[in-house]
Amino acid sequence: MSNTSCPPERLYLDFDSFFASAEQHFNPALRGKPIGVVALDSLYTGCIAISREAKALGMKTNVPAREARLIIPDMTFVVARPDVYVRLHKHILAVIESVVPIQHVRSIDEVVCALLPSEGRQSLALAARIKTALRDAFSPVLTCSIGLGPTELLAKVAAEQHKPDGILLLDAVMLPDALANLKLSNLPGIGAGMISRLEAAGVADFNTLWNLAPKQARALWGNVEGERFVQELHGTHVVREQTRKRMFGHSRVLPRDWHSPDRVEDCARQLLAGAARRLRRTDLRASKLTLAMRSQRLRSTHSESAGAQRWTWEGQFQPSRDYRSFGLALSQGLTQARAQMPFVPHALSIMLHGLDAEAELTGDLFAKSSGDADDRDRWENISAVMDELRARFGGKALSIGAHEDVPGGYVGGKIAFGRIPEAEDFEGPSGADGDTHFASF
Ligand SMILES: [Mg+2]
Repeated sequence: MSNTSCPPERLYLDFDSFFASAEQHFNPALRGKPIGVVALDSLYTGCIAISREAKALGMKTNVPAREARLIIPDMTFVVARPDVYVRLHKHILAVIESVVPIQHVRSIDEVVCALLPSEGRQSLALAARIKTALRDAFSPVLTCSIGLGPTELLAKVAAEQHKPDGILLLDAVMLPDALANLKLSNLPGIGAGMISRLEAAGVADFNTLWNLAPKQARALWGNVEGERFVQELHGTHVVREQTRKRMFGHSRVLPRDWHSPDRVEDCARQLLAGAARRLRRTDLRASKLTLAMRSQRLRSTHSESAGAQRWTWEGQFQPSRDYRSFGLALSQGLTQARAQMPFVPHALSIMLHGLDAEAELTGDLFAKSSGDADDRDRWENISAVMDELRARFGGKALSIGAHEDVPGGYVGGKIAFGRIPEAEDFEGPSGADGDTHFASF
């Protein structure tokens, strides 16, 4: 537990009234008005989201539409459009990632980013840059609140404090005073059952919770999570057992007019650049690159459409983390693809693997001379500088090899959508963004 001020290591971003803001974003006529988003077109269904204007009038989320209308007679109700929100979510991720890589997607409107020390030292400016990027890409109505803190828990708590449209840095040295007035029920992961247990043990405010010894917390929670929770509150990352990173991959379904070999190559290079940037956020090197293409887009992750063809190529090289080594390997794969591909590709994926320890074992086989190693160091430095320029000036500032961005922008799709469905998971034709579905009541 630290008592000295350190640059925040986590940035937590949470959109304000997300579904309601999304509807206001797509339909300017709804802006500035109290609106409720209902899951079903029924007066008896609860509002899954309400706009900030409705909140300002004292409305709460989950109130049935019928009751909400009694409280705010001119409230507008719209029916939720999950496919549109997921599409927006993906676009949002791409915009955030143009500023800083996302560590985890926590929900459709919440992400957490791990900050490098250099980013942490300028975290408020970084948060402001994310907001500017979002405002430029969307509209002022689609706001988010950003929390900065030593741990994900504290960053998330910080994001909750200044809603809507806030930025707050919560340093461990400001605790427990900064949160002295926080209701325990406003802490993430503390539900009604936990509140009763805490109260029964005499823990009724933040200070008392904060002062719990880890062992007491473990006993109160009934498991190790209590201890972890208190540790995270004190600004100490909880070391959970992590599965070892095996690969960095990106995949993409190609737009209809992107099936020509030149465009497939452009897309492959963009996927590779994204995977390589992710790899360089770690201290790992890769020694294998797999290029895979499919003749059909997949219906879902579980079932493959009948008759789908697949072509894969794997290249092996000296353990690397630079643009050039990966680019040379990809060029070989793409040459093979042009010569051998038995079908027109509709989807492709890139995977960098053979990481770390595995890479060290095979590495010497490929090193021809010390000149190669010098060359590699130089290219690694160039790659690091390019990553930094890109982070500072945006993805458009420079790109290697690709002539044109893949429409839809985001080539980093698969990271961690968790339970968020893919566009392909929705049945029926997808609605247009501006096609608001007004409730009939
Ligand atoms: Mg939210």
